[in-house]
Amino acid sequence: MQVFKFGGASVKDAEGVKNLAKVLKQVGYEETLVVVSAMGKMTNAFEHVIKNYFENKAELKSSIQDILKYHNQILLDLFENESHVVFKKVRELFLELESFLNRNKSPDYNFVYDQTISYGELVSTTIVSEYLNHIGLTNNWVDVREYIKTDNYYRTANVDWETTQSLISKNLNKNTLNITQGFIGSDANNFTTTLGREGSDYTAAIFAYCLNAQSVTIWKDVEGVLNADPRYFEHAQLIHQISYREAIELAFYGASVIHPKTLQPLQRKEIPLYVKSFVNPEGKGTSVSKGKAIEPEMPCFIVKKNQVLISLSSLDFSYIVEENISDIFNLLHHYKMKVDVIQNSAISFSVCIDNVYNNLEQLVQHLKAKFKVTIHENVSLYTIRHYNEKAIDTIETGKTVLLKQLTQETVQIVTQ
Ligand code: ADP
Ligand code: ASP
Ligand code: MG
Repeated sequence: MQVFKFGGASVKDAEGVKNLAKVLKQVGYEETLVVVSAMGKMTNAFEHVIKNYFENKAELKSSIQDILKYHNQILLDLFENESHVVFKKVRELFLELESFLNRNKSPDYNFVYDQTISYGELVSTTIVSEYLNHIGLTNNWVDVREYIKTDNYYRTANVDWETTQSLISKNLNKNTLNITQGFIGSDANNFTTTLGREGSDYTAAIFAYCLNAQSVTIWKDVEGVLNADPRYFEHAQLIHQISYREAIELAFYGASVIHPKTLQPLQRKEIPLYVKSFVNPEGKGTSVSKGKAIEPEMPCFIVKKNQVLISLSSLDFSYIVEENISDIFNLLHHYKMKVDVIQNSAISFSVCIDNVYNNLEQLVQHLKAKFKVTIHENVSLYTIRHYNEKAIDTIETGKTVLLKQLTQETVQIVTQ
């Protein structure tokens, strides 16, 4: 079997859905499992709904209606006849969501988030699956929540590999074209869970692992993995081949083209991952597989914007040692801060973090009880793998460098 993943950008409108069908016809879709994300920026739109549910009830209904309208327009562009069953199916999904939000009594933001956000994927796959059937690409719509089981750590649930493996081996029809949702799963009580933002790549890897698939292909709006994000760097170049190890490093440092959790399951079974263009499906793209670290060799640039640099020093000039460092890390973990870089000296400790869950204020309050705290918000973190002097110069020129850390293969630079 082969596993495909189509992300939000590939299905952002009716043209995108038609193009998905074209790609399948062009490259073949027998014994294929297709993982699809929410359309366009719909996951962000659902995040807005969730925010309204908790903080601004007056806007709740209209924020849901906006999303329904967006999908309805795509349906109208794809299907000539409004009596097609897909219109009803999509409406029903929205009714189901509204009914959940009306009934729900749980104040748990993360729980409500997962129950709500998942409709992005449920709706997109319903549309894609019905459209493919409509044009003769007969397929099976799979509710991924019956296969990918997780714990109940809502918003970043952990996969229960044993149960997932067994459900996929036993129940999934492997001889057909399957269409399923990325990003979501379900817990032991059958509540919906999610695997973390951008988690659809990971879904593809989970299926590939459990199916012993021959390959995974993620279809992108770029030619493959480039040596830099083309939105921020001119002249980004295509990398033809990357080893799993190198790809894990790049994803870890924030190369958003591949979700960090995707690679490990694939590496364990040496299943190749292809990153290809949905605009040019016959292009070579990038192959992530066993082999040379990176081919052709070149520095790779990764930038993370809107990071926070926190610098701590002890109030009494005492050393920052194991005990305080473990306190600091407990707090970072407690407030779900994603740590990018750390650097310490005798009496100071700096950490660059991604404030994903907006907990900075509480964290700082806590830290101030024990340390002198300096904060730089809105800093950029640049990472260069396989750096050289010229590469470092390109980044540093014209910026204030707040922190810099070099290891043999990687340099990280925090700038303002
Ligand atoms: P998806 O629709 O699958 O979620 P994304 O929009 O998340 O796709 O990812 C594709 C985008 O990732 C590209 O348009 C590009 O701007 C960005 N990107 C970041 N780093 C890289 C990189 N190293 N190589 C290619 N694209 C990158
Ligand atoms: N739709 C989800 C997100 O935008 C998952 C994904 O696209 O991978 O985060
Ligand atoms: Mg995405």
